[in-house]
Amino acid sequence: MKMYMDNAATTQVAPEVAAAIMPFLTENYGNPSSPHLYGSFAKAAIESVRKSIASYINAEQTEIFFTGSGTEGNNMIIKGMVKDLGVRRIISSATEHHCVLHSLDKVGSNGVHIEYVKLDTDGKVDYNDLENLLKKSDVVTLVSLMHANNEIGTLLNLELVSEMCAKYNCYFHTDTVQTIGYHLFDLNKLKIHALTASAHKFHGIKGTGFVYINKELTTGELKLKAFIDGGSQERNMRAGTENVPGIIGMGVAMQLAYDNFDKNKEYISELKNYMITECLNITGISFNGDITETGSNYKVLNISFPENASISLEYFHMEGIAVSGRSACTTGAVEQSHVLKAINANPQRNAVRFSFSKNNTKEEIDYVIGVIKSTI
Ligand code: PLP
Repeated sequence: MKMYMDNAATTQVAPEVAAAIMPFLTENYGNPSSPHLYGSFAKAAIESVRKSIASYINAEQTEIFFTGSGTEGNNMIIKGMVKDLGVRRIISSATEHHCVLHSLDKVGSNGVHIEYVKLDTDGKVDYNDLENLLKKSDVVTLVSLMHANNEIGTLLNLELVSEMCAKYNCYFHTDTVQTIGYHLFDLNKLKIHALTASAHKFHGIKGTGFVYINKELTTGELKLKAFIDGGSQERNMRAGTENVPGIIGMGVAMQLAYDNFDKNKEYISELKNYMITECLNITGISFNGDITETGSNYKVLNISFPENASISLEYFHMEGIAVSGRSACTTGAVEQSHVLKAINANPQRNAVRFSFSKNNTKEEIDYVIGVIKSTI
């Protein structure tokens, strides 16, 4: 048996995505900035993707900027807001992805005051603590909190946090790398200043993403400026020839995700719920993070095994089950993941993240449960 349950790390490229990309490698290989037919074809194609991405999240076309990854998007927003918008204080959380945490370290070492909101043992933000921190804002403040945690799936209440940030006149950025394509966003209603996405998390290809930046931040007197200097691509915000095939693929991936949204959500949620029910019948298993339907990402389930169980990540890999214990970017580190540490998970118990996609089946879960039962 060989199965893939590491869809929070990356997903299989959808066949429709691969097919749509191919002509942009072989025939339509123009540079979107070139002033001839090849160039204008490529330009029109990526602009049509920008338009369609904007429509799926109810944003404006000019608010979407293509990037090379979720990591780049988060760096761009956090560092850009400090550099160009005068942010001097950032409120974030200890369970953010390392591309956010390390960006915070960097701006922190240059004098920006970083504060971490309290979390409960499910990794959920303590909203009272957040409000107390916001009340104390006497300098330009950014709140940067992820929508869904990539290791344990716990969700942020975006509506509540965006309202709070608006009330206290703070900027709000959210890392939506794990939820774009899996959650409905209405950016016309939500008061979010910026969000980040990455195509390979929703069946697009690696090395392509986008950021949404509310138009107030790119058109006012005080506005974000180029993150990468060079040509005038991405309306002068991110120089460099666009990854046309990647962007075309991301457009198709986004369309597939949202056109089949209800069906996929129901299917993946059922898989996760089935796994939870089966695990509850096994003594000594516990879950890390919120596992309720409203409080967690329906594609992620993080499980801790009993201390005395000889079950580890490697054990699953040997049985042909691709899962992970932490974010793929930190695989190889020996200490406990920063997320599990932040929620005080018992380090003596091996924790494994299962993350599902529409390509997984109930039979695969039966196999995983069989593997678990055979060792516990
Ligand atoms: N943010 C979160 C929550 C993630 O899970 C990841 C990737 O795992 C990233 C950011 C980085 O995205 P990318 O792999 O596109 O750099």
